[in-house]
Amino acid sequence: MKTSIVGFPRIGEYRELKFQTEKYFRAEISEEELIAFAKTLRQKHWQTIQSVGIDEIPSNDFSFYDQMLDTAILFNIIPKEVAHLDVSPLSRYFALARGYQGEKGDVKARPMKKWFNTNYHYLVPKFEKDTQIKINSQKIFDEYQEAKALGISTRPVLIGPFTFLTLAEYSEDCSIADFVEPLIVNYQQVLQKSAEQGAAWVQLDEPALVKDLSAEEKDLFVRIYQQLLNQSKEVKVLLQTYFGDVRDIYQELISLPFAGIGLDFIEGKETLHLVQSGFPKEKILYAGVVNGKNIWRNDYTKTIELIKSLPVEQIVLNTSCSLLHVPYTVANENFAANIKNHLAFAKEKLVELVDLATILSQTTTTTALSENQALFVNSRVQPQATVQQALAQLQPTDFVRAEPFSQREKIQRAKYQFPLLPTTTIGSFPQTKEVKQKRAQFNRQELSSEDYESFIKSKINEWLTFQSEIGLDVLVHGEFERNDMVEYFGQHLAGYLFTQNGWVQSYGTRGVKPPIVWSDIYRKAPITVKWSAYAQSQTKRYVKGMLTGPVTILNWSFPREDISLKEATLQLALAIQEEVLDLEANGIEIIQIDEAALREKLPLRKSDWYSEYLDWAIPAFRLVHSKVKPTTQIHTHMCYSEFTDIIEAIDAMDADVISFEASRSNLTILDELQAKHFQTQVGPGVYDIHSPRIPSVEEIKTTLRKILAKIPQNKVWVNPDCGLKTRGEKETKASLLHLTMAAYQLREELRQ
Ligand code: GLN
Ligand code: ZN
Repeated sequence: MKTSIVGFPRIGEYRELKFQTEKYFRAEISEEELIAFAKTLRQKHWQTIQSVGIDEIPSNDFSFYDQMLDTAILFNIIPKEVAHLDVSPLSRYFALARGYQGEKGDVKARPMKKWFNTNYHYLVPKFEKDTQIKINSQKIFDEYQEAKALGISTRPVLIGPFTFLTLAEYSEDCSIADFVEPLIVNYQQVLQKSAEQGAAWVQLDEPALVKDLSAEEKDLFVRIYQQLLNQSKEVKVLLQTYFGDVRDIYQELISLPFAGIGLDFIEGKETLHLVQSGFPKEKILYAGVVNGKNIWRNDYTKTIELIKSLPVEQIVLNTSCSLLHVPYTVANENFAANIKNHLAFAKEKLVELVDLATILSQTTTTTALSENQALFVNSRVQPQATVQQALAQLQPTDFVRAEPFSQREKIQRAKYQFPLLPTTTIGSFPQTKEVKQKRAQFNRQELSSEDYESFIKSKINEWLTFQSEIGLDVLVHGEFERNDMVEYFGQHLAGYLFTQNGWVQSYGTRGVKPPIVWSDIYRKAPITVKWSAYAQSQTKRYVKGMLTGPVTILNWSFPREDISLKEATLQLALAIQEEVLDLEANGIEIIQIDEAALREKLPLRKSDWYSEYLDWAIPAFRLVHSKVKPTTQIHTHMCYSEFTDIIEAIDAMDADVISFEASRSNLTILDELQAKHFQTQVGPGVYDIHSPRIPSVEEIKTTLRKILAKIPQNKVWVNPDCGLKTRGEKETKASLLHLTMAAYQLREELRQ
């Protein structure tokens, strides 16, 4: 049996690509140097994959920034203002990715969106009426040649036309229909040229097929491929899907003349069932059996059983999706052997594929199999009795606050006596160089904990004073002690592991290092109480406690596979609940529980939203705050206001106040809040914190007026759109001053 992968991480073993690219951004290396560097990196990756023994190796899975952007560039789908920039092709590429400001012009970056249910983000291509589709880049061909020169025959990979068209944006005067035909012609040219270069196969990625598909979408897909495959007989096409199953289009898929079909057996709940219903003899099934998204070892016994149960004649063993979503190698981590043995990052997953192929070709048990079996005979970790007990004892009443929202709202109004349009912030204040430096020194034990603590306290005091001076109603301590809203909590909870080099690309040159949930989770000791209680002791105004919610912590971690996501989230919820109650017991009366990443794992199929996710994720959040007194005010925060379609679920979180991003585009959510009679008090962000720009008082007032036109005035809070940790101090202070002035002036107006 042969082996293959969907794609390989491109940022490099030690994020080399990031560092070189950023050097190029700072003009410390030339364009030629960056291009040459990328070439050596690709070479290293191909040779690594080859040396492990993978049979079918992709090319063009490399990208300087993003594969959707690469595809847009390949087909010349470049918005006018960027197309007109008189700069090199690579600069134009980065202008689309990051914006361009210089002598040649001033253009904004293309917007970014979440790539399906991952934490990867792609740049949204934009078609305009006069977009002229043509082959505009040689990247895919050059990279094929590059590998060929190394003696490696690769399979060029490209985002497929259906996914590309459906994820793109269209200017008002045009639509998908205008571009289908010319795009097919150009895909056809890519296939033809690849064949001329000697490629036997081309892989077209169509992850959009795992979503719920309408009849029109299915027609579009079939129309595209009937035409494309009809005209491209010189090369075999592997139609690759991932992140779920293709239940809506399986029959069409197997009837079209693809030479190979890649299906995901990990996330695709229905995949096995579909394949069992029949798979054509003449086609090759690329069976995605090694998980491209999580970091645990494959259970060979189960996988082999699965493969043997498939009524398919020709199978190639494959990853479930690109390995882009896992770190490079376990070899660079310091874990003990008994931990490492259970982990497989990208490089180890290559070995797993080769192992599986070997095992399947032999009749006797191999050592690879017996070693793998040994990992699964006993559970990897022992359950924590106290955690298990707490979970077993949960009652329905543990998930609801004793007093309903309307009653709490009255009680809290009487207690807090906030003015109309109360003002607050989202939690963090600028993490200056000094703050980061002190933390690094403290971590390296170059700074004593007393000195570190007194430094943090001085920052807290400095910002409490500022907040009081400008007259904010609810203050925060500023989160100076935290590096990251998930890592910080993970580090203070039992059950978590942290990698040294486990970076995964989030977008462009930005990586994240998700912690690993290793075993049952519980709180070892209070986490934030010290800082919040200190801050509260310094002022008569209310200081808001600041926590990260269980759903967000889990969604930004590598989760366990031996227990359900639901159970892991409930464990986290119990741990954070203890922290909430401790804060309350220590005099913190307003507590914010951030769920920035609530939407992250929302299933791709709408039909699964509640049953597979929201039905336990929302109660898990409620569990965290269900036991507080009715006077304790619970806030939550979500990044992006992309919850127009799950408003009822958000209201069911039963927080007292929610803040969210709204300044950029999404004041439209206000209509929905109004229509659905959203009960939770709301703080739609009144200015964009992602930009260093200082909003004027008038501008904020205008935004507030728009908000007040839709939301009853006694429900509205005034706050920025997200945490301020990435901003500079000066602009932050100026912006917040304007925010409080705007709120103050509007209050006056409303009183008249
Ligand atoms: N409280 C966090 C902060 O202010 C929230 C961050 C976030 O939403 N991403 O930094
Ligand atoms: Zn946010």
